[in-house]
Amino acid sequence: MKLPTEPQPGQALIRVHGDLNDFLPINLRNTWFVRPCRGRETVKNLLETCGVPHPEIGALLIDGRPVDFDELAQPGHTVEAFPIVSAPDVPIALRPPLTDRRFVLDTHLGRLAAYLRMLGYDCLYQNDAHDAELARLAHDEQRILLTRDLGLLKRSIVIYGAFVREVIPSRQIIEVMRRFHLAPAPTVFQRCMRCNSLTAPVGKAEIEHLLEPKTRQYFDTFRRCTACGKIYWQGSHYARMQALLACAIQGSSVQENEKSG
Ligand SMILES: [Zn+2]
Repeated sequence: MKLPTEPQPGQALIRVHGDLNDFLPINLRNTWFVRPCRGRETVKNLLETCGVPHPEIGALLIDGRPVDFDELAQPGHTVEAFPIVSAPDVPIALRPPLTDRRFVLDTHLGRLAAYLRMLGYDCLYQNDAHDAELARLAHDEQRILLTRDLGLLKRSIVIYGAFVREVIPSRQIIEVMRRFHLAPAPTVFQRCMRCNSLTAPVGKAEIEHLLEPKTRQYFDTFRRCTACGKIYWQGSHYARMQALLACAIQGSSVQENEKSG
């Protein structure tokens, strides 16, 4: 490990890797930098004061030794943080492995929530949810918190989470699929995009009176949300969604190949 400078007394030397650099000012990216350190701060806090939210970190090294979030950083230490997607295989895991991919999204990500539900994933989203409630849901239900709010992501009770870099929903879905290795779930196109509940087949005769004349004329197969009653059919909306999904899956696999190639 080549260091550009020795840390001075009262300083730690820090480097973050991969896309954790997104959280640093440009002049600190992909290089070692010093931070005041008095020996009373956990490595987690030290990195968060630099801008890096802890749920994005996959592995931590102090002087090349794997450590947990609670390790105290000492003056003279070198601290390295690795992102989840390219963390080295170290014997200290920062969090238990996720058994299930379920999500909770902040109030800015309604469209992304709808796309993830379309893919079949269980996503909690409410456009008036408070940060404390989102963090609690992420913690209590072991959900992955997706957010564009760094303050929310840094809340200490959040275990699994990611800052969504993209701002356009059709790009956000590709980003999230790539990051969490998502393929369409078994319930693809069977989850209500409005309320997250599962849909079930419903006979046309039962809902015919609720349909627009053209829908009634051209479509015979329908599903209905078991909770809110919203009706789905394979119309132009479905075709647009399928095209977006194909694009997302393709984008996901292309980027995976680039990564492994
Ligand atoms: Zn519904």
